Amino acid sequence: MINVTKPYLPDEAKYNSYVSHIFKSKWLTNNGELLQELERRLAKYLDVENVLLVNNGTLALNVAYKLLELSGEVITTPFSFVATTSSLVWGGLKPVFADIDKNTLNIDTGEIEKKITKSTSAIVPVHVFGNGCNVEEIEKLAKSYALKVIYDAAHAFGVSYEGRSILNYGDISTLSFHATKVFHTIEGGALIINNKKLYDKARKVIDFGIDGPDHISYLGINAKMNEFQAAMGLCILDDIEKIQSSRQKIYNRYVDAFRLEARIILQSHNNKCSYNYSYFPIILEDEESMLKVRELLRREDIMPRRYFYPSLDQLNYIDSEFMPVSNSISSRILCLPMYDSLEVNDQKRIIQTVKEALL
Ligand SMILES: *Cc1c(COP(=O)(O)O)cnc(C)c1O
Repeated sequence: MINVTKPYLPDEAKYNSYVSHIFKSKWLTNNGELLQELERRLAKYLDVENVLLVNNGTLALNVAYKLLELSGEVITTPFSFVATTSSLVWGGLKPVFADIDKNTLNIDTGEIEKKITKSTSAIVPVHVFGNGCNVEEIEKLAKSYALKVIYDAAHAFGVSYEGRSILNYGDISTLSFHATKVFHTIEGGALIINNKKLYDKARKVIDFGIDGPDHISYLGINAKMNEFQAAMGLCILDDIEKIQSSRQKIYNRYVDAFRLEARIILQSHNNKCSYNYSYFPIILEDEESMLKVRELLRREDIMPRRYFYPSLDQLNYIDSEFMPVSNSISSRILCLPMYDSLEVNDQKRIIQTVKEALL
């Protein structure tokens, strides 16, 4: 069976040597040596001042909302993984959707301003499928209305905007290092916090708000990453160039195959950004064509995913206006298998099957 993604596993002996080290040191979690090394190496690789590692990408979002003391309404995109919205509701905030641009699949910056009210405290955009948002427009809006910006950058590992890491934009960017992402630590995530004071506070907030042996300074939570996760991250970071170059080849083969296919639309990428080859979504003409493509692929034991479906304005625990563009895209988009070890012959079969479905 070919799945939409396959987690990357590093050299087993290398991982085991880190595990032996952990068994000898008996230091399993709480700001361990491996975690500190991974934070340093990631900051360098990602070209950011600081990286704060946490247990997963959803907690990274929740910690970010608390750090920035958000309240009331938060403007976000209806076209994302559910965690972008559910984390807001979980944090006692009201998600207010601004519809997306049908080409970039990112939040439509022209729609954001219409949704700002007296209760709005922040904007939470997503760099969907690693495609960078219009960060300058968003920054302007945020400045003129005094709003915080938290980028859900779960898909944007390694993406740069005009040559600098896109993670430097906004007050905070959050990453997910879940097993299915381009870079992973089994489960994991990170916060990239531009303000040094806030970063120092965040390190305590993710550890129950504890500030020294006899001191609790803040309301905190437990969001710490452990040493086994950090070890996985260190092994995978060694291989990241290799992973990215394989992904790039696979991505280019898909683009070559579908670029001139009139009945398939590909996501338009922000030309000021680099791309990390994280996903390969195709947008069909209607839901029926998409379901037909999916059915023929399934018959070949190929499992694409409806990312993202449903549009988040449809969640039963929120109250939202209908988002026409997001719902339309959501009903006819399919992510094709995309991972570093996808075999050329399997990819040919995927491409062939998609094309046959459209005949
Ligand atoms: C994966 C993902 C998350 C959640 O990350 P976890 O590490 O799985 O908690 C949040 N937002 C987006 C856009 C994601 O794709």
